[in-house]
Parts: sequence; C-alpha cells; structure tokens
Amino acid sequence: MIFDNSQSLPFAQFEVLKAFNSSIQHFVTTRNQSLPPSTQNYFTIGLNGPVDNGIVLSNRKQLAEQFGFSPNSYVFASQVHGKVVAVVKEEDKGKGAFERSSYLCDVDAMVTNRKGICLFTQAADCVPILFLDPVKKAIGAAHAGWKGTVAKIPAEVIKTFRDEYGSNPSDIVVGIGPSIGSCCYEVGEEVVSMVKDAFGTTEGLIFPSYKFVKPVFDLWGANRRTLVDAGVKPNNIEIASLCTKCHNKFFFSARAGDKGRFGAAIMIV
Ligand SMILES: [Zn+2]
Repeated sequence: MIFDNSQSLPFAQFEVLKAFNSSIQHFVTTRNQSLPPSTQNYFTIGLNGPVDNGIVLSNRKQLAEQFGFSPNSYVFASQVHGKVVAVVKEEDKGKGAFERSSYLCDVDAMVTNRKGICLFTQAADCVPILFLDPVKKAIGAAHAGWKGTVAKIPAEVIKTFRDEYGSNPSDIVVGIGPSIGSCCYEVGEEVVSMVKDAFGTTEGLIFPSYKFVKPVFDLWGANRRTLVDAGVKPNNIEIASLCTKCHNKFFFSARAGDKGRFGAAIMIV
C-alpha cells in the first residue's frame, strides 16, 4: 500500500489498483484527520458508533469532496458476516450513505459495472477487500471477518464477476486491506475447526503463537488462497500486510478496544 498525505485527509491506496487510476478511484481511510498519527484521532465513517452521526456524515462528506464526488454516490452494506454479494445498480446509489436503515440488507460484498457508484466497506480488524476487472470494467468491495473468510466470500465475489460480467478471473486485480494480522489474531477451537473444514487443512493458515495461549489465524493468507483457487493470479493480489492492532495509530482495531470504523472504497469514474 502507498500512503498519501498530500490532501487534507490522509489515505492509502493499493499499488495494484493505483495502476488503473484513470478509470477508477479507490482509497483506504485512516483514523487520522491530520498527521502525525495518534490514537487520539477519531475519523470514523461508521454510523451509530461512539461519535455523533452528524460528525460521521460530515466525515463521509469530507471524504467524497476530497475525491471529487457527492456523498450520494456511496453505497454501504449491512455487513452481517455472511457471504451474500449484491449486484449494485443506479437505483441503489446513496443507500446507506446517510442512515443505517437503508444499508443493503444482509449483504457483505458488492459489485458493480456502473460509473459513479462508490462501493464502501467498513472495517476495524475484519478484512476489507477491493476488486477490479479492468477488462470488463467492473469493481467489487467485500468485508471478510473470520466467518466471511471461512465462508470464502472472495470466491463468491469472483463467481458474481463471472456470472454478471463474463469476467475471466485471471484478469481480476485484488487488494487485501489492513486488518488484524496473524501477529495478533488469537482464535479459539471453533475457528480452527471451521478453517479446517473450509480449506481441508489448517497448514499455513493456523499457527502456534509465542504471544498467546491459543493459536493464531492468518486471514490474509486464507483470503489469498481462496482467490488463487478461484483463478485469480497470485501477482494480481496485493496484501497490505498492515495489522490494524499493531498499527492502531493509523487504523481502528476492535481488539484494541475501538468502536470506530475505517473504510475501503472503490468507484468507476
Ligand atoms: Zn498485529
């Protein structure tokens, strides 16, 4: 990922997606409205959180303005740790942009091939994942916590790209965003057994840890494995490799005690 501090709100971008900046806009927000970073900074984009919704809407507006579009372009999903992918159309524009009640219901991933729709995923330890098929000109955004990861939501997104847009998975470019890393993601027996069920093995995904009693889970590697199995080229996948708990000055982390949310967004321009 590349951090950009040249504008009023610092943000990060995936190198694999930045190459297509003439046809898409994308960004990962940080918790900071200014530099230097501090855990005191609280630029959250999640409604009904610890700060007044008016401030959250103002944050969302400020972000949209920085990137040159209207907050009415945003589409948010309810993010229920499922694996449903919504195909977003013009009539969905603005859903969830101003209130939670219009979030796309029971949805964790979104795709579109329409211009001017900003697919916005929220996270604070769960993995935000952005997708682009530069050939069929389609984009996607997914939210994958451990449940979405073992449910293989990235594979559902790739399948939707194929079904809806005729995409060839080998054309698709994917950015796996900041989230809790295996350095900090201690998990219980329930998660270990679901990883084994989903991937047929825990090898390379679950590790013993010197920090914790229980083992740790590599969410980035698991989602990467799912994408490669779905036909995405390894070289087309970028992992931010930024742990939200270790880098809590930049990103919100539920395990660090935050209730705020940062976001990862993508739009065809
Ligand atoms: Zn960490």
